[in-house]
Amino acid sequence: MKKLDIVIATGNKNKIKEYKELFKGYPINVTSIKDEGITLDVEETGSTFIENSLIKARYVASKLDKVVIADDSGLCVHALDDFPGIYSARFKENEPYSSKHKAILEMLEGKEDKSAHFTCAIVFIDAKENVEKTFEGKCYGRIIEPIEGPYGFGYDPIFVPNGKEEPFSVLPDEVKNDISHRGVATKLLMDFLKDYLK
Ligand code: IMP
Repeated sequence: MKKLDIVIATGNKNKIKEYKELFKGYPINVTSIKDEGITLDVEETGSTFIENSLIKARYVASKLDKVVIADDSGLCVHALDDFPGIYSARFKENEPYSSKHKAILEMLEGKEDKSAHFTCAIVFIDAKENVEKTFEGKCYGRIIEPIEGPYGFGYDPIFVPNGKEEPFSVLPDEVKNDISHRGVATKLLMDFLKDYLK
């Protein structure tokens, strides 16, 4: 089996932790851009999750001679033309999530269609081998009045996935990870990596 040194193109400590967990048991050494001494000095100017992940991954790959993974995710509300979408993190950036929830519910007032989905895009770049791969996971559901719970983050209190009665904020992590956009995208990434490491 090959060994891989992978840099995760994020400043988010939780994401690093999640990837370390995901790669446990594989000959993969994970570092963050902070460990590598670089900052993610790029603007996310793409119009899709994949484009923004590519921007981040290519930037880091251009600075380091290592394999890079970047991701981008967000909530798309169908009756709002998929808003906040790629702006999920930037929408009301300096306000608590409770006000983002409130704003989305206000925008949805009077609209019958409450359906929505989360998307997660992951990009893998091995520049030395000329490999650039993209993976995308989606999780469909509907928007509800917020129910705070012990789990999750971000928009989880207002999102009930299809097939469940409770929002992601109430569903345990293992239940969420099994069906979530990130869960689906990381499964695709792992299927690819298992082969890639051979
Ligand atoms: P990213 O770090 O650029 O991927 O930002 C994604 C943003 O989308 C987060 O800050 C959240 O607002 C939202 N988001 C993405 N995935 C989830 C999730 O699983 N639950 C709740 N909110 C999410």
